[in-house]
Amino acid sequence: MSRSRAAYYPVYLSLAGRLVVVVGGGEIAERKVAGLLPSGARVRVVAPELTPELARLVERGEIEHRAGDYRPGDLEGAFLALAEPGGAERDEAFSTEAEARGIFANVEDVVECCSFIAPSIVRRGDLVIAISTSGRAPALAVRLRQRLEQELGPEYGALLELAGRLRGPLAREVPEFEERRRRWYELVDSEVLVLFRDGRTAEASALAEQMLGVAAEGSEAMSGAAESSRECGPGRVTLIGAGPGDPDLITVLGLKRLRTADVVLHDRLAAPELLAEAREDAEIVDVGKRPGDDVQARQRRIEKLMIERALTGAHVVRLKGGDPAVFGRGGEEIEACAAAGVACEVVPGVSSFTAAAAAASIPLTHRGVSLGFAVVSARNAEGGEPDWAALDGADTVVVLMASRRLERIGQGLIAGGRESSTPVAIVERASTPEEKIVSATLESLAVGELSGDIKPPCVVIVGEIAAASRRTCPRSRRGRRRTQSAARS
Ligand code: SAH
Repeated sequence: MSRSRAAYYPVYLSLAGRLVVVVGGGEIAERKVAGLLPSGARVRVVAPELTPELARLVERGEIEHRAGDYRPGDLEGAFLALAEPGGAERDEAFSTEAEARGIFANVEDVVECCSFIAPSIVRRGDLVIAISTSGRAPALAVRLRQRLEQELGPEYGALLELAGRLRGPLAREVPEFEERRRRWYELVDSEVLVLFRDGRTAEASALAEQMLGVAAEGSEAMSGAAESSRECGPGRVTLIGAGPGDPDLITVLGLKRLRTADVVLHDRLAAPELLAEAREDAEIVDVGKRPGDDVQARQRRIEKLMIERALTGAHVVRLKGGDPAVFGRGGEEIEACAAAGVACEVVPGVSSFTAAAAAASIPLTHRGVSLGFAVVSARNAEGGEPDWAALDGADTVVVLMASRRLERIGQGLIAGGRESSTPVAIVERASTPEEKIVSATLESLAVGELSGDIKPPCVVIVGEIAAASRRTCPRSRRGRRRTQSAARS
């Protein structure tokens, strides 16, 4: 049959009250029946024997049963016919009868006897997503289903249930299609989904009603509080770790929050791919460093903007490089929120120090070589540097904000008691296409051998474990990587 070559035409069938014949009484049939029952179909199973579950359904009158093997005539009056595989002869007879009667038929796993195939399904209440590979690679359909199931939680079902009760009132209240459409988009792009996901059902409903400007059918009249909360209620701030550069290294939660933000304040290096995840109508502000910027003044400016926007009721996302709580002044932003009475959530991120170690395949702890590590900044806010000698207790020292202070790092750690031959790995722009890994020693840092070669941002990893620095498995999609050695041999 040429059917398998032509493309499938996907539909959702309305089966309520229609007869569906299922041939076979085993587990496959049981699964098919379970899928059919919610549709309201009249299901008749044709089989000599039934699984206990099917027998129970027959007993409770939920399905019909004709005891016996399939024989031509069984499909009379059926709208749809499904079968467990029953051998070439039976399958052929079954599909021939279906074809003759104009009934769509499916024999599990026997493509030549199928006039329809069943997709993989993701269901969230009224949201039904059907996935098919047109029979080419069902395993891929299963993987896609699993991905969608992870991505789409039960909150989608809750949102649709509510949407169903808002649709009528909105249509009565707002006759203009364009305006209704605008409000619907505002609703689906809003944080209503996040509220449902967090179990804050009442708030979700209130926000949705307030956005659409109507009360949902079957709910109390829209509360005054709900009506006004968006205008003057406090918004909130989410500090999100954007990761070290590769947009894939943001967390799933970070991405979810970013997608619902009203305002996004980001640093200069934020990946454009991440900003593209924000809502189309979100306000996106680059608060990155500009030449001649005073660091303190800039930080206060960011905090002021963040709080101002949040106080208008907006959900402000502050997208920060790496992890927001590692040398990113995240602490000051948390304090600013607390002082202004604005709720603040912190979503952790992959810090550049873990990304750098991963890029160079350096385990930051390793039995017998590195029992612990310290992460420091080469320079603190007051312009001072770490107490290098005090870092002696850590087998491995990781230094951020290092590119212009390589000599001082080498000199300081040697003076602090480390061997000048201690291996060093420097990772520039970890996780980006420009990533570069340089091997060195404390000595070569101290004498300035590398100064000028290393560009920011970079992370310096010092300790025996850095000798393990290697590129084990280049990830080609991230582009060419360069590894060079500056160690004195
Ligand atoms: N919160 C960030 C650090 C901010 S301080 C984090 O958790 O990573 C800025 C410093 O981070 C830079 O000076 C540099 O040392 C480091 N850094 C940030 N991104 C980097 C990257 N992709 N590769 C190497 N170092 C990076």
